[in-house]
Amino acid sequence: MKIHEYQAKSLLKKYGVPVQDGHAIQDMEFFDSAVEDLKSKGIKQFVIKSQIHAGGRGKGLVFSKDNRDELVVEGGVKFFGDKIENAKEFAGKILGNILVTHQTGAEGKEVKTIFISEGIDYAKELYLGILLDRNVSKNVIMASTEGGVEIEKVAEETPEKIIKVWIDPSVGFLSYQARELAYGLGLEGDVQKDFIKFITNLYKAYEELDASMIEVNPMVITNDNKVLALDAKVTLDDNAMFRHKDFPELKDENEEDPLELEAAKYNLNYIKLDGNVGCMVNGAGLAMGTMDLIKLAGGSPANFLDVGGTATPDTVENGFKLILSDRNVKSNTH
Ligand code: GDP
Ligand code: MG
Repeated sequence: MKIHEYQAKSLLKKYGVPVQDGHAIQDMEFFDSAVEDLKSKGIKQFVIKSQIHAGGRGKGLVFSKDNRDELVVEGGVKFFGDKIENAKEFAGKILGNILVTHQTGAEGKEVKTIFISEGIDYAKELYLGILLDRNVSKNVIMASTEGGVEIEKVAEETPEKIIKVWIDPSVGFLSYQARELAYGLGLEGDVQKDFIKFITNLYKAYEELDASMIEVNPMVITNDNKVLALDAKVTLDDNAMFRHKDFPELKDENEEDPLELEAAKYNLNYIKLDGNVGCMVNGAGLAMGTMDLIKLAGGSPANFLDVGGTATPDTVENGFKLILSDRNVKSNTH
């Protein structure tokens, strides 16, 4: 399950990972009081950040919800310093409109929440990510001096600039590994110490939250030499949800695929894909085998749908309804 940046930051803060303070609002009527509250905490600079489950917001484009051809403003994240009036105008423009980034596809996502956050002056942008490396069954921490840039781009063009450290699950994250990352990023003195605390806390958060991915891009070194998570993307492992009773409330149904939400209601195991051959199969193994066969024959599956071994006429009917309500589906296998 993906969560919003403001939710991710509030979780990380509990683990001692430094983040900016801020307030998430869904309506502009709360803008002034949010700013006043932040000001009362001594915050003088502000950044407005649209909250959608996709990255690349800074370089995105905001289009009018009513007229998709009308460009409202460039960028879904903007730093305003102390210019509150400009920040308010921008917030009013993006809230309720459609943000298109390289990760949302052309249809974009409606901005239903904005995060009014403390703005920071920083000297350096770095990249930090933690995820599971399925090839070696270990978590891997990736770090790079090329922060603020998509990591896929760095991996393609300058792979030598990505440092990777794999964590042996039987011994956990060790302090020499934190130092290895710090050296790799060229951090020294107090910043190095700060970073070691940062990555140790971030890894603890990754494990205890049962996250499947945490990406901090950029992690910054502030002008007063502090390490801080300027951005945070956290994905939580759905299979571990039963261990975290308060996580379901983090789910934002606006961000979920409507067909997947519908499927969850019927207890169907459905994942939408981008092909055009609808698949309804009983049994996950057979479902995957069927998808492979479709690919082998030159086709492309529109979905994965396992109705389960104990499918009833109702389950099958609901499965068919789901498949047929996907406009991409041109043919079917079952
Ligand atoms: P993303 O584009 O979705 O990854 O969103 P980010 O949270 O990474 O923000 C995008 C960009 O906005 C960053 O790379 C910074 O250039 C800028 N930005 C965000 N927050 C701040 C801030 O507090 N201060 C300054 N100066 N720039 C910021
Ligand atoms: Mg970012």
